[in-house]
Amino acid sequence: MKVDYAIIGGGILGLSVAMHLGQRQPGLRVVLLEKESRLAAHQTGRNSGVIHSGIYYAPGSLKARQAREGNRSMVAFCEKYGIAYAVCGKVIVATQQAEISRLDQLLARARANKLAVELLMPEANKNIEPHARCLKGLRIPSTAIVSYQEVCTKFSQFIEPQGGVIRLNSEVFAISEREIPPLDTRTRLSLALA
Ligand SMILES: Cc1cc2nc3c(=O)[nH]c(=O)nc-3n(C[C@H](O)[C@H](O)[C@H](O)COP(=O)(O)OP(=O)(O)OC[C@H]3O[C@@H](n4cnc5c(N)ncnc54)[C@H](O)[C@@H]3O)c2cc1C
Repeated sequence: MKVDYAIIGGGILGLSVAMHLGQRQPGLRVVLLEKESRLAAHQTGRNSGVIHSGIYYAPGSLKARQAREGNRSMVAFCEKYGIAYAVCGKVIVATQQAEISRLDQLLARARANKLAVELLMPEANKNIEPHARCLKGLRIPSTAIVSYQEVCTKFSQFIEPQGGVIRLNSEVFAISEREIPPLDTRTRLSLALA
C-alpha cells in the first residue's frame, strides 16, 4: 500500500490530523494505523472530558492562543454536528491564605489572556459549588465538558469519505528509512505492521 501520509495512532491527535489533511488537500492518500481494535482506546477515550479555557498558560504564548481558539472551535464543532457538550464553567478556589496570591496571579493571567473571568467571594461560590469552601475563588465560564470519544467518532466519519483509510488492529513496530531512487529526492519511510 503506497500512501502520502501514514499516521500512527487513532487518538484525537491522529484522527484530527487525518481529517484535516484530507480536507486541506483532497486526493491525498492518507492511512491511519491504530493498534487497538477501536479508536480512542487510550488517553483520549479515558480523559476527564474537559474543554479547557487555557487560563494556566503564559499570556501571549502559542499554548494560550491555541487553548482559547481550541475551546471555541471544539464547542462550535460539537454544536454543528450534534455532539452533546455543556459549557458549565469551572471554579478555581483558594482554601488557604497562602493560596490567595496564586489565585490573584491566575486572575491577572486570565485577564492578560483575554478570558472572561469572575472573581468570587465565599458566599458567591457557595451558590455555584456548595461543596467547595473557599476564601476566594475564580469562575471561568468558558470551560466546558464533552465526550472526546464521541468527538473522535465524528472525526473518523470524515476520513473515509475523503479517501482516507483507517486500519484498526494495526500496530506499527518498526520504521525504516530509505532514499527513493532517481528523480524523487524525498525520503520514503516504510512501516512494518504487526
Ligand atoms: C488522566 C488524564 C486526564 C486528561 N484530561 C483531559 C481533559 O479533560 N481535557 C483535555 O483536553 N485533555 C486531557 N488530557 C490530555 C488528553 O487526553 C491527551 O492530550 C490526548 O488524549 C492525547 O491524544 P493522543 O491522540 O496523542 O493520544 P492517545 O489518545 O493515547 O492516542 C494514541 C493512540 O496511538 C495508538 N498507538 C500507540 N502506539 C501505536 C503503534 N505502535 N502502532 C499503532 N498505534 C499505536 C494507541 O493505541 C492510541 O490509540 C488528559 C490526560 C490524562 C492522562
